[in-house]
Amino acid sequence: MGSTNGVFVNGKKVVEQQLRDGDKILIGTRLYFKFVFQDAVDQNYQQNLFRAANIDGLTQLYNKKYFVDALSKEFSFSRRNRQALSLMMIDIDHFKKVNDSWGHMAGDLVLKTLGLFLQKNLRLENVACRYGGEEFAIILRNVNADLALMIAERLRKSIEAEKVVFRGKDIKITISIGLATLDGSNFETIEDLIQKADENLYAAKEGGRNRTVLKKAA
Ligand code: GH3
Ligand code: MG
Ligand code: MG
Repeated sequence: MGSTNGVFVNGKKVVEQQLRDGDKILIGTRLYFKFVFQDAVDQNYQQNLFRAANIDGLTQLYNKKYFVDALSKEFSFSRRNRQALSLMMIDIDHFKKVNDSWGHMAGDLVLKTLGLFLQKNLRLENVACRYGGEEFAIILRNVNADLALMIAERLRKSIEAEKVVFRGKDIKITISIGLATLDGSNFETIEDLIQKADENLYAAKEGGRNRTVLKKAA
């Protein structure tokens, strides 16, 4: 490559060299590369590892670990660039009743269907996660409070209008939503943002469920 200080492969100065898997390449004095050859089997293995660590098996949404990682990154980026970031916390209303009346399998089907529904109805950059048992969290990049409220209400109403068919019977569900929006520097940490969304979710439950609450930070 014509480097003034030479090119080294596994510590040996070279001009031309056929690379093999795992070779370490030094260009000049500081720039290190490792050459890795990946075939389809390796790639598949890596993908499976990623899925096992980051994807919830039942709903196929991201899991809580991925959510926290993603929210941390989005939070710092948005604060730095003075861009809005909204967080939506969703909890299924009276979900225990679904399990009690129809059984655990029906409950699982509802969770799975809701997961698919969220994925279908959100943009790719809006990360949807299973936050806990029947709780979901959605990260809305570059979405201010007014828009977040519109998106949340659209979701809530369309879920209210849907039904899940289990063994020929229609199961209807509703959801409650708590919102919080980072806008400028109104939140210091992601924990503060999550806590506000949680408080608002709690208020939505207290207020009678099947509703969205967005109360801004004090
Ligand atoms: P609320 O409107 O206040 O949210 O009432 P709720 O019944 O939805 O809330 P609660 O926290 O009392 O019950 C949540 C239920 O979700 C209890 C638990 O058994 C059920 N659950 C959690 N994870 C799963 C799961 O993976 N599959 C099924 N079938 N049920 C689950
Ligand atoms: Mg819950
Ligand atoms: Mg619930």
